[in-house]
Amino acid sequence: MRVSVFGATGSIGESTFDLLQRRDDIETVALTGGRNVARLAEQARALGAGLAVTAHDDCYLPLKEALAGSGVEVAAGTEALIAAAERPTDWVMSAIVGAAGLAPGFRALAQGATLALANKESLVTAGPLLMAEAARHKARILPVDSEHSAVFQALVGEDIAAVERVIITASGGPFRDWSFEALERATLAEAIRHPNWSMGQRITIDSASLFNKALELIETREYFGFEPTQIEAVVHPQSIIHALVGFRDGALMAHLGAPDMRHAIGYALNWPERAALPVARLDLAALSQLTFEAPDPVRFPALRLAREVMELRGHSGAVFNAAKEVALDQFIAGAIRFLDMARLVERTIDSLLSDSCLTQPIETLETVAAMDQMAREIARRHAAVLA
Ligand code: NDP
Repeated sequence: MRVSVFGATGSIGESTFDLLQRRDDIETVALTGGRNVARLAEQARALGAGLAVTAHDDCYLPLKEALAGSGVEVAAGTEALIAAAERPTDWVMSAIVGAAGLAPGFRALAQGATLALANKESLVTAGPLLMAEAARHKARILPVDSEHSAVFQALVGEDIAAVERVIITASGGPFRDWSFEALERATLAEAIRHPNWSMGQRITIDSASLFNKALELIETREYFGFEPTQIEAVVHPQSIIHALVGFRDGALMAHLGAPDMRHAIGYALNWPERAALPVARLDLAALSQLTFEAPDPVRFPALRLAREVMELRGHSGAVFNAAKEVALDQFIAGAIRFLDMARLVERTIDSLLSDSCLTQPIETLETVAAMDQMAREIARRHAAVLA
C-alpha cells in the first residue's frame, strides 16, 4: 500500500509512523513536517520515503543536509506540500495542525486517495466542500479523531436513518473542576497538563478550554450530516468511552478503548479490515467505574459557540476556527488570559453577523481562505482590546 503522511513529525504523525514502521507492505510516498527537520529526516530514512517536505522554505537546507546520501527527495514550502499531495498514493494521513492542513487534503482527495482525517479544521472550515470533493473523485474520508472514529465504528452495518442522537465524550481537561475565577487566572503551564491524552500543544490547550470539543461537535455535523439537535457532548473524565450512538429503539452503542490515538489511526489504516494493534487492552474490573457529567456552559463557553456555528453554517466554521487559532496564539504568547480566548472568538463571530458572507454556502476554497483572513484580522483587533 502506498502512503503519505502530512504532519508526520507531530503527535498524530508519530503515532502513524509507529504503526507504519511495524508493517512490511508499506511504500512511503511522502512525509511532511514543519520545523522539526531532524525528526522528519529520521522518519524518512526509517521508512525509505520517496519524498520529504518541510512547510518552511528556510528549513530546506537543513533538511537537505540531514537527508544527504539517503536517496530521499527533498522539497520545501507551501507549494511543495501541495505537490506532495498530488503524488499518486492509496492512503494519506492528514495530520497538519490548523487550517494549513486543508489544501493538501483536498489535493489528496482529487487523486482518489483515501484520506485519513485527523485535521478536524478541514471539516470545520470547509466541510461541505471537502465531502463534495471526496464524492466527486469517489475518494473516501475516514475519520481519525477518536470520537468520530468511534461513531463511524458504531454505525457499521446500521441504517443512518435509525440514528436518534450521537454523544461524543470530553475528558473535561485539566480544568474540569476549576471555578470560573480560577479559570480567569489559568496559566499556559496549567493548560498543557492533560490528564489522559498525550497530544500536540495546541490541541491540548483546546482540550482545556473545550474548544477541541467544540470543533468536534461541528466536525460531527459536517462528516455524518446529523442535525445539531442530534449531537451532544458529555464530560467523561476517564476517556474510555469515546462516543455513543443512540438509535430509535433506545439502544446506545458505545465505543470503548484505552486513550491511545493508534486505535483510531490503525482502524483507518486497516479499514475495512480490523488488524491487531499494539494498544493496551482494557481491564474493566480495574477501571471499576466510568462517570459522566454535563459540561458547564458558563465556564466553558466554547460549546455554546459551536452550537451557534452549527446553526449558522456557511463560512461561520472558518471564522470560528480562524478566531480560535488567533486566540490560541495570543494565549500562548501570554497576551490574553485563558477565558479571553472564548471572548475573542465570540466577539469575532458577532462582528461578522451582519456580513451576508458569513452564512452563504461555501463554494470555493478561495472564499474560505478569504473569510479566514478577514476573521484573523478582526480577531487580532479584538485581541488588542482584551490584552
Ligand atoms: P502537532 O502540533 O503535534 O503536529 C502538527 C504537525 O503539523 C507537525 O508535523 C508540524 O510540524 C506540522 N505543522 C505545523 N504547522 C504547519 C504548517 N503551517 N504547515 C505545514 N505543517 C505544519 O499536532 P497534533 O498531531 O496534535 O494534531 C494534528 C491534527 O490532528 C490537528 O488538527 C489536531 O486537531 C488533530 N488531532 C490530534 C489528536 C492528537 O491526539 N494529537 C487527536 C485528534 C485529532 P513540526 O512539528 O515539524 O513543526
